[in-house]
Amino acid sequence: MSRVYNFAAGPAVLPLEVLQEAKDDLLDYKGCGMSVMEMSHRSKVFDDIIKEAEADFRKVLNVPDNYKVLFLQGGATLQFAAIPMNLMKNRKAGFVITGNWANKACQEAAIYGEAVELASSKDKTYTYIPDCSDLPITDDMDYVYICENNTIYGTKFWTLPNTKGKLLVSDQSSCFLSEPVDVSKYGLIMAGVQKNVGPAGVVIVVVRDDLVTDDVLPGTPTIMKYKTQADKDSLYNTPNCWGIYMCGLVFKWLLRTGGLEERKKINVKKAQILYDYLDQSKLFKGTVEKGSRSIMNVPFVTGNKDLDAKFVAEAEQNGLVNIKGHRTVGGMRASLYNAMPIEGVQKLVEFMDKFERENR
Ligand SMILES: *Cc1c(COP(=O)(O)O)cnc(C)c1O
Repeated sequence: MSRVYNFAAGPAVLPLEVLQEAKDDLLDYKGCGMSVMEMSHRSKVFDDIIKEAEADFRKVLNVPDNYKVLFLQGGATLQFAAIPMNLMKNRKAGFVITGNWANKACQEAAIYGEAVELASSKDKTYTYIPDCSDLPITDDMDYVYICENNTIYGTKFWTLPNTKGKLLVSDQSSCFLSEPVDVSKYGLIMAGVQKNVGPAGVVIVVVRDDLVTDDVLPGTPTIMKYKTQADKDSLYNTPNCWGIYMCGLVFKWLLRTGGLEERKKINVKKAQILYDYLDQSKLFKGTVEKGSRSIMNVPFVTGNKDLDAKFVAEAEQNGLVNIKGHRTVGGMRASLYNAMPIEGVQKLVEFMDKFERENR
């Protein structure tokens, strides 16, 4: 077996321990004679899997009792539509535009109502989080929407916006379960799990229970109503059984390794190693303003496209893979999700240092 250090932004690295557990369970899940991929979603065995996954998830994120937890399909992208369909009663919501994903959510919501841009960091290619202390929020807005960690641009909201009493809706896909979060500050949190939690194909929605009602926009498909899914404990139709099982194993891994407090310490430490190196480097440069830096996704450049390409190629030969930046930013991006071990970041920085000495 030969494992690389995988810096992909998503789908991304999973904990090796979890993959090994899945391997052990693969052909015969706990003596039931079949794999999780083959069993009925109505079976007792799977019911235990999904119930345990939800219970563990609630422990990991410290989810208050008045919030529903839904394991859905269609990715974060389908939630760009589901959120307005379920929550945009007045047909108006505000959006903080911090990059592609916030933009996509805003454009999708505009199909259903008025999607107002409250602030944007487009003027500087989304390299910072705009000041959200006094946004032009109006009384008729149903919610304020943010993309909390911007996977592509490497920025993160370290202070939540002042929503002036309106619901806060957050896409946490790329920072989900990377640190403790006060769920009670949000009306809804959603995250595609393939960044930091599990395999592609599951999106987790955490939504305050008073928002889960039959009062949705006309034309909302039954399956996209949060009420439908909540009433059936995410088993309205066949869910992504395997994906939910894998997420469950990751929740257990998080719990036995100290939970999100410990996870945050490790994640901060990993990011610090890379940022410290970038801040003193004469060759590489981080692209994000200091106060807005993500600890999950770290974009950087040399300022020379050919040199960037050379770096990416040589990094790959050294087992440091998927480090090429997003096509809209160029350069490099190292994603340092929960399952990236600290040694991976140390190896990356050692390699960058060597590359810098050879190419200056
Ligand atoms: C990856 C990503 C998405 C899109 O997720 P899909 O599961 O592909 O729909 C949305 N928002 C953020 C912040 C992401 O990182």
